[in-house]
Amino acid sequence: MPTPRPELSVERRANLRAFNTFGLPAVASTLVRVHSEAQVKQVVDHPEFGPAPKLILGGGSNLVLTRDVAAVVLKVEIMGRRLVAETPEAWIVEAGAGENWHEFVAWTLEQGWPGLENLALIPGRVGAAPVQNIGAYGIELKDRFDTLDGVDLITGRSVTLNAAQCAFGYRDSVFKHALAGKTLITRVRMRLPRPWQGVLGYLDLQRRQHDSGISAPDARTVFDWVCDIRRAKLPDPALIGNAGSFFKNPVVSAEQCRDIIGRDPSVVHYPLPDGTAKLAAGWLIDACGWKGKSVGHAGVHDRQALVLVNRGGAIGAEVLTLARAIQESVYGRFGIRLEPEPVIL
Ligand SMILES: Cc1cc2nc3c(=O)[nH]c(=O)nc-3n(C[C@H](O)[C@H](O)[C@H](O)COP(=O)(O)OP(=O)(O)OC[C@H]3O[C@@H](n4cnc5c(N)ncnc54)[C@H](O)[C@@H]3O)c2cc1C
Repeated sequence: MPTPRPELSVERRANLRAFNTFGLPAVASTLVRVHSEAQVKQVVDHPEFGPAPKLILGGGSNLVLTRDVAAVVLKVEIMGRRLVAETPEAWIVEAGAGENWHEFVAWTLEQGWPGLENLALIPGRVGAAPVQNIGAYGIELKDRFDTLDGVDLITGRSVTLNAAQCAFGYRDSVFKHALAGKTLITRVRMRLPRPWQGVLGYLDLQRRQHDSGISAPDARTVFDWVCDIRRAKLPDPALIGNAGSFFKNPVVSAEQCRDIIGRDPSVVHYPLPDGTAKLAAGWLIDACGWKGKSVGHAGVHDRQALVLVNRGGAIGAEVLTLARAIQESVYGRFGIRLEPEPVIL
């Protein structure tokens, strides 16, 4: 006799406010918690859930919910962490998609496998990290990525994808395009190169090196520095709802960058190897006078203009109205169209 499959954990009319770091209200008609690849396949085979559109939910730290959700919400709670292989060139470490990203980073360091320290304290779950190719302090996920496993939500087949197949870009991947909502990531493997070499090019980290007099910090020290810098700069979603950086840093041509510098010499910009330049979206927003301003219950953070916040009781529509007003004023002054970073639903 085949072993009976455990019942799926299903909630009807689930309140999503606690499941998104912006704290925006929305109700999901159906929420299913998936704890294993087998349960994801069970959902695909299910007579009610299988054919229905789906929304995959991790920690909800990169989402702006503007309405109730009719799609079946799959809350990913697949756990587990392990060392897959150790070679003279690298450690390959794996985590289930439901693991907390920061705890995974801290755990790898405790085990003596450094390499993810610059990505410390990024909220969310491991499974969402490849979706937007998370990045911070000079490293992107793709720089340490090995492969990932997922389940095709239409056929129920297991898939394993390498970096090329994930098509990573700046805060971008195939999971935001062709595979959006179609492949649920179940496990992610990271390749941590040996010997470890710190990535310390980022200005804030260079300042720390200078101020501390530590010219060759170890990975644990870099981890602590990154955590300190982030805590000082970014509002904690547990205290004030937000989704981190609300807009991507725009990339402009060399000519457009020269034109903006001509008019605003203090514009914060980073020349890129291909001759284009990345502009600091936070600087552009601040230059338009938005820091600390509000629309209804949604506002621009008082210290970090790139972060939109829930001042208490905000709804998604207010966040969108504020975001559009910011986009228009930045476009009006600089001719640059800012693109939102979070997924807007
Ligand atoms: C204070 C703060 C600081 C932040 N700082 C950074 C930063 O420095 N760098 C950075 O890159 N990001 C940053 N972010 C954004 C966010 O933390 C990351 O994008 C994170 O990876 C989102 O994880 P999550 O589990 O919360 O994803 P969610 O918000 O739940 O989902 C995000 C998207 O991924 C999809 N998804 C989630 N899980 C899966 C899965 N298992 N399979 C397939 N698709 C899935 C969802 O459908 C959705 O489209 C920050 C956010 C906050 C609130």
